[in-house]
Amino acid sequence: MASISSVLIANRGEIACRIIRTAKRLGIRTVAVHSEADRNALFVEMADEAHEIGPAAPRDSYLRIDRIIEAAKRSGAEAIHPGYGFLSERAEFAEACAEAGIIFVGPPASAIKAMGLKDAAKALVAQAGVPVVPGYHGARQEPEFLRQKAYEIGYPVLIKAVAGGGGKGMRRVDKQLEFEAALESAQREAAGAFGDPRVLVEKYVLSPRHIEVQVFADSHGNVVHLFERDCSLQRRHQKVIEEAPAPGMTPEMREAMGKAAVEAARSVGYVGAGTVEFIADARQGLRPDRFFFMEMNTRLQVEHPVTEAITGLDLVELQLRVAAGEPLPFTQEDLRIDGHSVEARLYAEDPEHGFLPSTGKLWALRFPEEPGIRIDTGVRSGDEVTPFYDPMIAKVIAHGPDRDTALDRLSAALGRTLVAGPKSNTAFLQALCNAAEFRSGRFDTGFIDRNLETLGAVERGPEDGAVALGALRMLERELGLLEKSHESRFEHLSPWDVNDGFQLVGERRQVLPLVVDGARTEVALSWPDGELAVTAGSVTARRGSLASAEGTYAETPDGIYVLGAGRQTFVQPYDPFAVDLEHLDSGDSVNAPMHGKLVAVFVAPGEQVEKGQRLAIVEAMKMEHALLSPRAGTVAEILAEAGSQVAQGARLVVLAPEA
Ligand code: ADP
Ligand code: ADP
Ligand code: MG
Repeated sequence: MASISSVLIANRGEIACRIIRTAKRLGIRTVAVHSEADRNALFVEMADEAHEIGPAAPRDSYLRIDRIIEAAKRSGAEAIHPGYGFLSERAEFAEACAEAGIIFVGPPASAIKAMGLKDAAKALVAQAGVPVVPGYHGARQEPEFLRQKAYEIGYPVLIKAVAGGGGKGMRRVDKQLEFEAALESAQREAAGAFGDPRVLVEKYVLSPRHIEVQVFADSHGNVVHLFERDCSLQRRHQKVIEEAPAPGMTPEMREAMGKAAVEAARSVGYVGAGTVEFIADARQGLRPDRFFFMEMNTRLQVEHPVTEAITGLDLVELQLRVAAGEPLPFTQEDLRIDGHSVEARLYAEDPEHGFLPSTGKLWALRFPEEPGIRIDTGVRSGDEVTPFYDPMIAKVIAHGPDRDTALDRLSAALGRTLVAGPKSNTAFLQALCNAAEFRSGRFDTGFIDRNLETLGAVERGPEDGAVALGALRMLERELGLLEKSHESRFEHLSPWDVNDGFQLVGERRQVLPLVVDGARTEVALSWPDGELAVTAGSVTARRGSLASAEGTYAETPDGIYVLGAGRQTFVQPYDPFAVDLEHLDSGDSVNAPMHGKLVAVFVAPGEQVEKGQRLAIVEAMKMEHALLSPRAGTVAEILAEAGSQVAQGARLVVLAPEA
């Protein structure tokens, strides 16, 4: 490679691993920086050299410009790649690199600044002739004035934080009457998250499709686009599944969007990889006169692999080459779309319980190795999903000759993905891949919210089959019929394969108490034909009969995970001396659902509350979670202060016992 011989990666997780992979292939020495919590992380292991830069909290490590620059100097790194998130869109970081004589693998600080605030960015690209969402993006912020603007724009409108990102500080307003309350809460959220309460108001586009264009520019004035990505499958304005090309895209629309994106990049003197995000009004399909600029992300995007799949390019390699001063090795006319690619973001979260992030040890993590499937991950079996960073476990990316093949491959790969420990959205993603409307291309950004139930994002409880299999396996283990398991032992076998002459004769039936997914339950044991059988609900699993179903297990000292169809069921022996689970569930207290920060408490001791009333908010892993009252009653005690860190399971609010 021309001139960069070493690169420091100012990031963590899957994106750090992904950058290191390309750097290694190019013969570039890699330097990792990491927090205390990431000492044993995969990306630290992969890098040629690693420097610890501080405690777990991002503001004390991954956001510390001074320490990162110092590590770069100490290691002699010639360049810094910021990845995405963290410091990637902070102009002062690009400037600090320049001052230290280090190449920043990204656009010039001036371009980052120009696109940093949504209002200024809109004004700028509008001048360059790029269509923007109609709305008010001026400086005035008085509620009266903004409400008048909203009226002129016409409802529904969207209030957006000008400094926004990650879907925060955003409120859709459907009626004039709701405007002021929505404005106030958007401003509050924006002030908290970005230290800047300013908002803009724009038309809420109906049947919205999020379509973005990947652009690339070199330092010689060449700017091209690498086609579009459709990121319309979203939840809370955050992407869940992304694909390229966009379903229903026409050559005219692609040409118009590509041109607009290139113009937007040119207008700020862009260099490197960037993404111009548009919102398209898809009420009548995709039309070249119905798309509008939303914002430009001045960095590599999470979903860049789908673009790599359809173009055959390595975007990180291109970033490094462009940063070294090389010209782009192709022109717009050289670029072609090859097939279709879809990416799913696999998160440690629980779709069956409001998508609550889930932490803990990954007792098992296994991905299929198949043609057309790429896995980008930053963790492996035995690692911990910590509460400090976002809950992404992996990106599963499929490529195929056409959209249906890519979706079939993605669905199959998700079906064979095994995650034990933290809950995951694997089954939910698979359901999305197979949803008929999505398959047919009839979807918009509201699709997920409209279909939560059919996508399985509702409390479903464990399946009888999984409970029976888990119980049978547990009994075999406890009875010494399997060798005692070790930490993180992980195997793939059917319980019926084990046949070692275990015989108990007679027509006895016995009830066995168990704990399944934390709740007490029972299964029935019987010995038909002298072989042990376990019945849970309507399903009986038998030992010694022929294999008729596959069970996949992950064993831990405390119990057994039964894995299948993207879900996990945790079966544990019932210990009468352990904590009384029933009592914990009695509804007298509200506990922290995860480690995090208690950002607000809305009630005080003595206050009457309704069932479902919002009592407090815990923030963790970039998300806010409202804690609701389990029943009507009176608040007896508040056990933590707003602003403090709380541990998972900590009692926060106690209700007076019911009379
Ligand atoms: P995209 O549109 O590419 O998803 P976002 O701005 O929503 O971009 O975030 C990009 C990614 O940056 C997130 O998914 C996350 O992995 C990472 N990230 C951003 N900020 C943080 C943070 N404070 N802590 C941990 N990870 C972060
Ligand atoms: P962020 O910086 O949080 O990514 P964006 O401006 O990119 O903010 O918007 C995030 C998401 O919100 C978009 O992907 C889209 O789904 C939705 N959205 C944004 N603007 C509009 C709009 N004017 N009409 C409808 N949906 C919108
Ligand atoms: Mg965006």
